[in-house]
Amino acid sequence: MNKPYVVLLGSSYDPQRVVASAAKLCYSSSDISALVEKQTEEKTAAFIEMLADMGHESPIEHASFTFGIEHVSRALLAQITRHRIASFSVQSQRYVKAKQFEYVTPPRIAANAEALSVYSSFMEEAQKTYDKLAALLAEDELAAVDSALPEEERRKKAEKAVLEDARFVLPNAAATKMVLTMNARSLLNFFRHRCCNRAQWEIRSLADQMLKLCREAAPQIFKNAGPSCLCKACPEGKMSCGKMPEVREKYKNLLV
Ligand SMILES: Cc1cc2nc3c(=O)[nH]c(=O)nc-3n(C[C@H](O)[C@H](O)[C@H](O)COP(=O)(O)OP(=O)(O)OC[C@H]3O[C@@H](n4cnc5c(N)ncnc54)[C@H](O)[C@@H]3O)c2cc1C
Repeated sequence: MNKPYVVLLGSSYDPQRVVASAAKLCYSSSDISALVEKQTEEKTAAFIEMLADMGHESPIEHASFTFGIEHVSRALLAQITRHRIASFSVQSQRYVKAKQFEYVTPPRIAANAEALSVYSSFMEEAQKTYDKLAALLAEDELAAVDSALPEEERRKKAEKAVLEDARFVLPNAAATKMVLTMNARSLLNFFRHRCCNRAQWEIRSLADQMLKLCREAAPQIFKNAGPSCLCKACPEGKMSCGKMPEVREKYKNLLV
């Protein structure tokens, strides 16, 4: 599978109401419970739109969203974990053996039969090398494992211990999975960077899917979310894709 798989595992309870209440508090003399009670759905929606227009972003930090993400490459992992205002739990290559490692195939490679054949052969070879290294290192490691343990348990311990080194031969293409939590403000920043046509195709595809899920869960918060050029001139200068009208049309209509 080449497309990232992403699911919204959870979010703050009633995220838009939480955000609207937090923002309202900044401008009101009422106490918090009264403010929350007064928040009808319509008032919440209108207030959040006003916040977005004003650029008052800090209240949206009170809403967070948790995603389950699968079928993405370690290359994507290196990029997504650069976003510091986020929490990650990532499947470990130290503790989980790559019995038959899954990998992501870039569309350019998938579209070229010869390139695809070279690519697939390399992945098979990587798996064989990983298995061979794991077996060789496990033999050495066995001597360091408590000899009082039953033989089967000793072997398992030795095999587990060496995965952290065998994994060095697994490529950037190797698939991984993670659970990711970001607050809405950090998500807006993530979408500005990663929905842009300058972002790499895999993380852009993931960002698009995450944005669809966010718009479904909190439509007003994410109404104007997407690449920077949705709401202002493209900041990419000479590197601009020059396709602003198409990009704006795409994100205006991006829904699940
Ligand atoms: C198209 C593209 C190409 C890229 N190419 C490269 C590359 O070649 N090499 C490379 O290393 N990275 C590259 N990056 C990654 C990029 O530089 C950022 O690290 C990444 O996008 C995370 O963005 P962020 O810092 O805004 O997000 P976060 O880390 O989530 O931070 C969010 C915001 O918080 C604030 N913030 C966070 N930490 C600090 C801090 N310590 N000090 C001050 N303010 C802070 C900033 O306002 C920041 O925008 C690329 C990103 C993109 C989209």
